[in-house]
Amino acid sequence: MNPALEKLSKYLRLEAQRGFDNRAVLGGLARILDSWKEEARDSGLAPTVIEAVTTRLRDYQRLSTSSRRVVLEGLWNRLQSEFPDLAEAPSPFGAGAQPPVDEPEPSKLPAAPAHEQPEQIIEDVPTVSPQVAPKEAEEDAPPKPEPPAALDAPLTTIQGIGPKSAKTLAKLGLETLGDLLWHLPRRYDDYSQLKTINRLWYGEEVTIIGTVEEINLRTVRSGRMKLVEATVSDGTGSLRITWFNQAWIANRLKVGRPVVLSGKIDQYLGRLVMNNPEWEPLNRQQLHTNRIVPVYPLTAGITAKWIRRVMSSVVGRLAARIPDPLPTPVRESAELIDLPTALQQVHFPDDQEALEAARTRLAFDEMFLLQLGVLGQKANWEDIRARPLAVEDSWMGRFLEALPFTLTSAQQRALEDLRADLAAERPMNRLLEGDVGSGKTVLAAAGIGIAAENGAQSAFMAPTSILAEQHYQTLLALLPAAAGIEPQSIRLLIGATSEPEKQAIRDGLQRGDIKVVIGTHALLEDPVQFDDFGLAIIDEQHRFGVDQRARLREKGDHPNLLVMTATPIPRSLALTIFGDLDLSVVDELPPGRQPIETRVLSPSERSRAYSFIENQIEAGRQAFIIYPLVESSEKIEARAAVEEQERLQKEVFFRYQLGLLHGRMNQEEKDAVMARFRDGEYDVLVSTSVVEVGMDVPNATVMLIDGADRFGLSQLHQFRGRVGRGSQKSYCMLIPQSEEGLENERLKAMEETSDGFELAELDLQQRGPGDFFGTRQSGFAELKMAAWTDVRLIERARREAQRLFSEDPELERKDHLLLRDAVSRFWRNGKGDMS
Ligand code: ADP
Ligand code: MG
Repeated sequence: MNPALEKLSKYLRLEAQRGFDNRAVLGGLARILDSWKEEARDSGLAPTVIEAVTTRLRDYQRLSTSSRRVVLEGLWNRLQSEFPDLAEAPSPFGAGAQPPVDEPEPSKLPAAPAHEQPEQIIEDVPTVSPQVAPKEAEEDAPPKPEPPAALDAPLTTIQGIGPKSAKTLAKLGLETLGDLLWHLPRRYDDYSQLKTINRLWYGEEVTIIGTVEEINLRTVRSGRMKLVEATVSDGTGSLRITWFNQAWIANRLKVGRPVVLSGKIDQYLGRLVMNNPEWEPLNRQQLHTNRIVPVYPLTAGITAKWIRRVMSSVVGRLAARIPDPLPTPVRESAELIDLPTALQQVHFPDDQEALEAARTRLAFDEMFLLQLGVLGQKANWEDIRARPLAVEDSWMGRFLEALPFTLTSAQQRALEDLRADLAAERPMNRLLEGDVGSGKTVLAAAGIGIAAENGAQSAFMAPTSILAEQHYQTLLALLPAAAGIEPQSIRLLIGATSEPEKQAIRDGLQRGDIKVVIGTHALLEDPVQFDDFGLAIIDEQHRFGVDQRARLREKGDHPNLLVMTATPIPRSLALTIFGDLDLSVVDELPPGRQPIETRVLSPSERSRAYSFIENQIEAGRQAFIIYPLVESSEKIEARAAVEEQERLQKEVFFRYQLGLLHGRMNQEEKDAVMARFRDGEYDVLVSTSVVEVGMDVPNATVMLIDGADRFGLSQLHQFRGRVGRGSQKSYCMLIPQSEEGLENERLKAMEETSDGFELAELDLQQRGPGDFFGTRQSGFAELKMAAWTDVRLIERARREAQRLFSEDPELERKDHLLLRDAVSRFWRNGKGDMS
């Protein structure tokens, strides 16, 4: 055994024998800390362990006897879990001088977890192989490893979770034991700092241990509010505790009993107090207090304490039995902790460092599984053959001649990529990424032209009718002249298309007369069949689900695929998520674009913004006003588009026509409103964030975003891209929700740059990927842990995945079988597949 550890365990044992009188060491336990720390460090004990010991013992002398017992016992348990040598020694805290004990706890979970309920004990957990090894009746035999846990077993297999609790948990999407284990805390409250009452400060978050001196239940405000008031003392002082509207606590607290309280120190009439602290009786394992406490997402019918107790039991019973899918060489090379420890620590961390290590491990797993899947998918693609679609240089030259403008060099590079892909014997699988207005549509048109020149058909899918119509007009203006495609061979198929026209399109596509069909989801739902489907193009790819992309592809025999996005995805991210796609970036805007003048305004300048808009309307222009939400909610003080539109129409812009667009409208209603705005029937379009990406209204020159600090930079940039599409100078005004928002660095960045990539990088650093891609991008949002900002972690995962993949691409080796399961589970759950 480590000598420093051995020494420490001797002190702890002695101290326990003496009844925690702090005399095991002359002058008190804290006296040894300095020299012990040094010794421990020299003997190679982990810094986290040393830290755990010193933080717990520093205040030891000030604690009451019962508090001392808790502290030492907690420390002992912690050390035992980390050092098996210790685990074999009998605990100095065995049945002996027990402190006063709380009443015994019933052993079942409550049927309905609607309010605070007593602890449960989980007695039985299903396993993959239920055969139980015959037990040696020997007392001190080391514990036999239990069989691995079945992750997909339903929650009700845990004794104590009945159908009713399971139903409540299902509201959080928790249906299996695995779901529960990976139901990660939303955040943590750090109550690990134990303090004595005489050393408390106003405003700090602490844990204290003390004895209940007095309890009162009072009714105030003419009977509408119940207060439980208690006085707790710990020998150094006493503290007044108040709970509001939790009358039941009065019955659970008992005078003379020790309790642990965690919360924020407040002030009342000049005295320090604690309001609504978390609390627990002292003698049990501390779940809610005296530690870094996990805070889980909640839903109606679930309390924070209840779920914490469920999690504690499940994690306690299951985590250690989760088989680790990561091959040991990978784990060692990437310097990661094992999965059982990571799961334990991410739920109930011993300290901040352990939590960090756990998060790193889980984040690595997500990236690693994502990468392995991407590599596998890419390899699959590479096996598929396709008919090469090639054109002569002279054809290409004629196409470019016919355009009303010269391609930017970024467009030229992307076109070369596209042309080479189409001419290859494998199907193209390319992501075309370019800022709003960078000119992606013309590149799609070139692809369609090349396909048609080879007799192949194309389909161009956009997320809304408005965009589909816009593309249809563009292609109709371009393709006949540049690529010699007949206008009647270019068709539009959207929801509103008449049945006879749809029938004509079906016939034309099947015969092969129609060379290109532009459409919306309607295209997928329609039973259209192609004669020779050569190229599938998807605009604004993030608006489509994985299955929709797959369905379009399935309308042909591995057609070439071009997906386009205006979301500027930083390279690190693109390589990871779209690793199976080839990437072309159009990072240059066509010349002559006027920069959009961008200003951050104070909320008090709102009326100035309105009169600016009025001036623009008088000059014949149009404006957008964007609000973050559909309806105002009590929680979020966001101005609601619905109310605002009414107010603006009545009080501000009463002489003009205002349109309204929000997420509660169906697609047809939205399309109708946008079409009216495009056609100039509305002067102002008031909208939530649903306003169409890619919608072209050249006459709109003002974009006002109210509550701008609620949006990510990438999204603000997308909104801004709705103006400045015509020849007129355009403006973007950003109003934060409150004056403090003016200091907002992010909004300042909007004033300073119009580079979407730069803003995206900033966004990623500041907000993470969930916000970055918006909630619609479900695939990304579901990654729970992955630190997208941590490029080093992403690269580490990529490197390890590539190495493993080159050794064993099918993951067939025996030591990779668990990993293969994990990869397919990860991708099956829709987290990974982004192609
Ligand atoms: P996005 O990449 O946002 O889809 P579009 O393809 O809609 O951009 O192009 C935006 C506008 O720029 C269109 O009106 C298009 O005709 C024009 N455009 C595209 N490329 C060029 C270019 N090289 N020079 C001038 N204008 C261009
Ligand atoms: Mg576009």
